[in-house]
Amino acid sequence: MNNSTSTESELYTLKCVQHGHINSEKETTTYCTVCGSVLEIEYHISPENPHQILVPLKTRPEDPIRTNKTELKRLDKLSAQYDGNVWVKSEYQNPTGCFKDRGSYIEVLKARELGADAICLASTGNMAASVAAYASYFGIKCYVFVPEYTTEGKLAQAMVYNAKVIKVKGDYSTCEALCRKFAESGNYYLAGDYVFREEGQKSMSFEVIEQGGDDFDYVFVPVGCGTNFGAIWKGYREAFNQGLIKKLPKMVAVQPEGSSPVVKGIFKKEKIIETRVQTIAGAVAAADPVDFYKVLRGINESNGVAFTVSEEEILEALTEMAQKEGIFTEPASALGLAAFKKYRKEFGSAKCLFVLTGIGLKDTGVVVRHSLPSPVIGNDLKAIHKFINSGYLDIQASAWGKWQGSPFGNLKLEPEQAKIFNDYVDSFNKRGKILTEKELEVLQSMVFDEEPESDQLIQVLDYDVRMRKNGLVNATVSLGIKGKHIDAKAKGVGPLHAVITAVKSVTDTLIPIEVVDHNVEVLSPAASSLVVVTLRLSHKEKQFLVKSVSTDTIEAGLKAFVKGLALAGKA
Ligand SMILES: *Cc1c(COP(=O)(O)O)cnc(C)c1O
Ligand SMILES: [Zn+2]
Repeated sequence: MNNSTSTESELYTLKCVQHGHINSEKETTTYCTVCGSVLEIEYHISPENPHQILVPLKTRPEDPIRTNKTELKRLDKLSAQYDGNVWVKSEYQNPTGCFKDRGSYIEVLKARELGADAICLASTGNMAASVAAYASYFGIKCYVFVPEYTTEGKLAQAMVYNAKVIKVKGDYSTCEALCRKFAESGNYYLAGDYVFREEGQKSMSFEVIEQGGDDFDYVFVPVGCGTNFGAIWKGYREAFNQGLIKKLPKMVAVQPEGSSPVVKGIFKKEKIIETRVQTIAGAVAAADPVDFYKVLRGINESNGVAFTVSEEEILEALTEMAQKEGIFTEPASALGLAAFKKYRKEFGSAKCLFVLTGIGLKDTGVVVRHSLPSPVIGNDLKAIHKFINSGYLDIQASAWGKWQGSPFGNLKLEPEQAKIFNDYVDSFNKRGKILTEKELEVLQSMVFDEEPESDQLIQVLDYDVRMRKNGLVNATVSLGIKGKHIDAKAKGVGPLHAVITAVKSVTDTLIPIEVVDHNVEVLSPAASSLVVVTLRLSHKEKQFLVKSVSTDTIEAGLKAFVKGLALAGKA
């Protein structure tokens, strides 16, 4: 049989996983038209068939974007450290930084073969970028439905690949349901965690075997919807049936504790849908794991296991891979190592493979959110040494990803820095504000960026802001300049604009500075949260940043501006 001219009925059958109902790809490429179960492709081959990856397409050009294999390598340092034999398949080396490219390639070719006018999918992350990349290459329009709160960062990659991004009021499941209806409203191919994706993603197993990895004892896969797990297991099964390998690995499914419907379902032997999932490993945060039954089967057939790991264990494994082996993945990809460490005894000296699903650079937010802030230090070698001697950098390194306990017990502050910190805390306590741990950490970091008040050229003694609906904002700021008391008044379009304009009206002749840009960071979800205002200021053609923190944006902005005046005055 010639693979390149075969059609659906000759080469393969589209079957539903739960009841074996036979479907046709002309009618559905997603769920069984009889019972709604997920589908699977069964090839009509005998074991004598030539060894190859079978693919459900009439013609298949070699993947033009992905022209290299991803690396299969042993982690020597971690193997030595844990007295084991651990390897990685570096799927983050795929063109869009994620294994999903293997599946997107086949899905997009299938959409083209079926004559679709466009592809559509619901996604907030890696899937969108991956499908968009292939759709763009093969000249098919791609609509991506995303929830309203999706961050631009996640969408940037998809947009560069020319995805037509549609933001929808609601969450991911709203988008998914709407996108499904959209697909039926025209000649659109619905892409996502469906049967043709599986046929692409299974190529990883064949590639590992080609690279000499034909004898793994365990393959660890981070599981969200379970599609990749199912695909990898299918790849191994097909390779085994073709005689490419003599033994099958045991499959290990790993999920975060806060998002583990698959692991719970495996113990219950039936699919569970969670109402809410929460984890830093966003790529596996799937409440409704569509391919649950494929994971269950893979675990049963391979005599495998399923584990959960905590958020701390994920972050620890993530940094360990980076610091020991030079590999920076996204949190989801660290699940394998985290589970290996946690259940170390189960694996002895077995040859273990961790599938590293995605690159770390896509989710730097997680690093920023789970590390202490880096204070800005003055341009002064003495201040740099003072900062290093305080122990801050060591505390920052050891506190990474730790959930509990204030890490600052051992911070060695100079007396005037300790005073600044205590003054800060006092001023918030006086307002009845209870500081969260994150807020305390930010305050600790701020002391390296503050001058004692007595050194300040200009002090804010008091301020008053009046706002009226539809009117300009009136601000009065009482300043102490060189021992004199001056009331500065101005109007502005907003309160921050008004207070800064008031200060400028007195200081511009002395020290002219302009606000180039500003940023407000809210430290906790509470309405009483501290806010950090960062201003980018310019003075004599030079730009610099100043930061201040308060319970109020106007106050923080005003304090930051005055700090900028002091810095510019000294320059
Ligand atoms: C999509 C994704 C996963 C989860 O794969 P599923 O097929 O949904 O189980 C894991 N890691 C990364 C980086 C992903 O993008
Ligand atoms: Zn069915």
